[in-house]
Amino acid sequence: MSSEVQIRVGDVAIGGGAPVVVQSMTLTPTRDVPATTAQIAALASAGCEVVRVAVPKTEDAEALKKIVYLSPLPVIADIHFNASLALKSIEAGVAAVRINPGNIGGSDKVAMVVKAAKAKGIPMRVGANSGSLPKHLVPLAQEDTAAALVEEALEQVRLLESMDFRDFKISVKSSSVPTMIRAYRMLSEKVEYPLHLGVTEAGPPATGSIKSSIGVGSLLMDGIGDTIRISLTADPVKEVEVAWEILKALGLRERGPVMIACPSCGRDNVGVENLAVAVEQRLREYTEPFEVAVMGCAVNGPGE
Ligand code: SF4
Repeated sequence: MSSEVQIRVGDVAIGGGAPVVVQSMTLTPTRDVPATTAQIAALASAGCEVVRVAVPKTEDAEALKKIVYLSPLPVIADIHFNASLALKSIEAGVAAVRINPGNIGGSDKVAMVVKAAKAKGIPMRVGANSGSLPKHLVPLAQEDTAAALVEEALEQVRLLESMDFRDFKISVKSSSVPTMIRAYRMLSEKVEYPLHLGVTEAGPPATGSIKSSIGVGSLLMDGIGDTIRISLTADPVKEVEVAWEILKALGLRERGPVMIACPSCGRDNVGVENLAVAVEQRLREYTEPFEVAVMGCAVNGPGE
């Protein structure tokens, strides 16, 4: 169930009873500091609380110092395959690093990153993704992908715990909604660390939002999950908007108005479809939480 352990990504608490945190990831080349900081500013305005940036090359790591300084949000560096990029990112002052201990170059390299993170007092995100499970778990994945994701995550947990490091959150992402739901449910029974929820590679906004709402929403409804990222093939601002709609629909967080609108029918005498679009547009200007109902006739209108 919900995590016992709380970590802090910059000034944002994750887990241990803190409100579910909304995060997203920039799409710009991180080395392009003006473009990346502009996208972070747009994400912050939309309600993003923690931002992740990809660090595939040295130039990206070198840009981090400036980005961290200019960002209104805590910045997480996302690193694969290269421990020295993780060390450079930590040195640049990021609020956390996301690594996959399975592809960073062995336990010695993980130990180097852990030592640097400990020295700076910053947490990590670790975890498994169904698209990149290690070879030894492929037979298990063919039988039960969710079990393989959990096993991979637990192997990483045991490795970090053996280094006396407990300042991390975990993800077990899959592009299959039933698989990710089962994996997170199983994992939540086994660990007390904060869980980062997401349906990976969920797709373009329409289908991706539906998959994410079902996957992430089901888990949050069960009290599982401490931070969410809605992965959409779209402007990341859209990810943040969808994340907030999920949290608002579940009654977990408040941000701006909640709109109720009827689907319209033959009794509609105001033109609900156009009116609802116009009202939704106008409501974007408000940050206070309140409900607005757009109804087509007197049948349910007075009640709403
Ligand atoms: Fe139809 Fe009126 Fe219900 Fe809207 S509120 S769906 S117009 S009956």
